[in-house]
Amino acid sequence: MRDVVILGSTGSIGTQTLDVIDRNRDRFRVVALSAGGSRLDLLADQVRSFAPAAVAVPDAQAALGLAQRLGSNGPELLTEDGNEALAARPCDVVVNAITGAAGLRPTLVALRAGVTLALANKESLVIGGRLVTGAASPGQLIPIDSEHSAILQSLRGGARGEVRRLILTASGGPFRGRSRAELADVTPAQALAHPSWTMGRVITINSATLVNKGLEVLEAALLYQMDLDDITVVVHPSSDVHSMVEFCDGATICQASPPDMRLPIALALGWPERIPDAAPGYDWTVPRDWHFEPLDDAVFPAVGLARRCGKAAGTAPAVFNAANEVCVDAFCDGRLGFLGIVDTVSAIVAEHLSSGHVPDEQLSVDAVLAADRWARQRAAEFLAG
Ligand code: NAD
Ligand code: MG
Repeated sequence: MRDVVILGSTGSIGTQTLDVIDRNRDRFRVVALSAGGSRLDLLADQVRSFAPAAVAVPDAQAALGLAQRLGSNGPELLTEDGNEALAARPCDVVVNAITGAAGLRPTLVALRAGVTLALANKESLVIGGRLVTGAASPGQLIPIDSEHSAILQSLRGGARGEVRRLILTASGGPFRGRSRAELADVTPAQALAHPSWTMGRVITINSATLVNKGLEVLEAALLYQMDLDDITVVVHPSSDVHSMVEFCDGATICQASPPDMRLPIALALGWPERIPDAAPGYDWTVPRDWHFEPLDDAVFPAVGLARRCGKAAGTAPAVFNAANEVCVDAFCDGRLGFLGIVDTVSAIVAEHLSSGHVPDEQLSVDAVLAADRWARQRAAEFLAG
């Protein structure tokens, strides 16, 4: 029996994690949940179904709302710094499925506690960089991101020294094949209509701008200690092949499955074991084509920008991520055009690299959080001006 803490239980990854656990109650037990507080009815249902000992919500008002829904006999309720407190609780696996830079401290707390960290919150790894990888012992940090799970599975096909490069697949998002001019007027509703995945708002917009793939290139470099130049992005619209590893003899090993996050979630929960029937496989009696094409870096400059941030390392990835989070909000609220997202992030990264950048050797959690705050402030000024 593995005891599991889920941070961000009401989101896309959180609910799918609970679905996997629900079908495998003989293997996993939920000991604590946290959520942002906007879906209290769902959170109350989760508490009734999984009976965690503790639940964290962001503030007293959300705690009151939850207590009212649950009546007496509810779990212990935490508010202030609840994610960190839950990440430190005795358990076997912490699933970090919250969105954005807020995931950094819980990620570090879970790693220091020595438990397995099943990581959906790629932002914490990308902005924390060597602070996060340095806190992780071998095999402790298991990615939930489908591409990185695919790489982990494909790496079983050879020795580490035999790996030549990693190939990350990208669906290309809803605007694949468009010119830059054709992107100028796209709406949030169009950007939120992802062709192959149903996900939270930020990652869905990040998939349309390809910022998500940029974050994932940095995530792969950190997880698998690869040179950024040895990580290739290829567009694969149907999201069947989740990523690939090319070995030194020219062999490419990939992992493929119909797009369903419950497969990488189950693998991370059960690592290194596979959970039977985690997700459906293919019906090979029907014809299917898998298409691959190069990424158009001129129309989608986000991956190149992320690579530059990864090479600069230090606080640059934190600025890239934080400026993007603010710009995604502004785009969704109609205050910024679609192309303005990456253009603004790019301008703020350039400013940071010319002044204020803290290099990798001097990186600290405080420096990351200060860079995060500065980038949010700068992005707000850009949007106001
Ligand atoms: P989501 O918006 O659907 O869910 C986010 C969850 O986190 C919600 O439960 C929300 O209430 C909670 N939350 C947000 N801020 C919080 C805070 N400060 N404290 C506590 N809870 C908080 O997002 P998602 O799509 O599930 O994505 C979560 C993470 O997983 C992101 O980092 C994303 O990049 C990553 N990811 C998601 C998918 C996917 O298929 N959805 C795939 C790969 C990686
Ligand atoms: Mg992914």
